[in-house]
Amino acid sequence: MLEIKPISAFNDNYIWLLRQTGGVSAAVVDPGDAAPVIQHLCREGLWLEAILITHKHGDHVGGVRELKRAWPEVVVYGPAGEPIPAVEQALSGGQRITLNGVGAEFLVLDVPGHTEGHIAYYGQDSLFCGDTLFAAGCGRVFSGTHKQLHHSLQLIAALPPETLIYCAHEYTLDNLGFAAWVEPDNPALVQRRQDAEEMRAKNNPTVPSRLDLELLTNPFLRSSEPVVIAAAERYTGGRLQTPDAVFTAIRSWKDREYD
Ligand SMILES: [Zn+2]
Repeated sequence: MLEIKPISAFNDNYIWLLRQTGGVSAAVVDPGDAAPVIQHLCREGLWLEAILITHKHGDHVGGVRELKRAWPEVVVYGPAGEPIPAVEQALSGGQRITLNGVGAEFLVLDVPGHTEGHIAYYGQDSLFCGDTLFAAGCGRVFSGTHKQLHHSLQLIAALPPETLIYCAHEYTLDNLGFAAWVEPDNPALVQRRQDAEEMRAKNNPTVPSRLDLELLTNPFLRSSEPVVIAAAERYTGGRLQTPDAVFTAIRSWKDREYD
């Protein structure tokens, strides 16, 4: 059985570790820091087969060089559309990769917006989406565009509802606070906030979340909902004609007023 565990890094990053139960091969997603990964793999007696990178930011790639020194045979996968010198297998949407030792297969999705060439890895009912979709939120627009990010989120929204969303940061409580600005009366959101507060009080991760819960509670996946449209129009003070415009307004509102 495929096991997926978080390795905590920096303040709030999760580096996802994949392995078969009882297996010795491992893969990691977005190792921004090598030290906690090396420590974990050595403690568990694991060998690093693959590194999967979603995008170019330092807190996602900073540990790759050192991991490559420690495990020279590791294969480094990453986006074709971003300048990441350590990437050996450059990937674009539609390609598939197989990790034989780990026993996992992934379909690559192009999900630009947070950055211009961001990719995600989908397989085994799981999505590793870096900084594109967060639990109850989404990434900021840095080197991509709002329109790209909204399109990428809609692509993710169309995956099977039971898909587990493995994002790269523990931002959930903060994101739920903003979500409540947008939809204060959404009962699923009120419940989710209570649940997340309990999880964090016990120091448990709130990630992964399920896509169906995101669809009910994440304002960035709900740009066609009347309540969300109304909230976005209250913020901009004018009519918003398209879901893209609603998304852009909500994202800007969070950037300017909440974060
Ligand atoms: Zn990032």
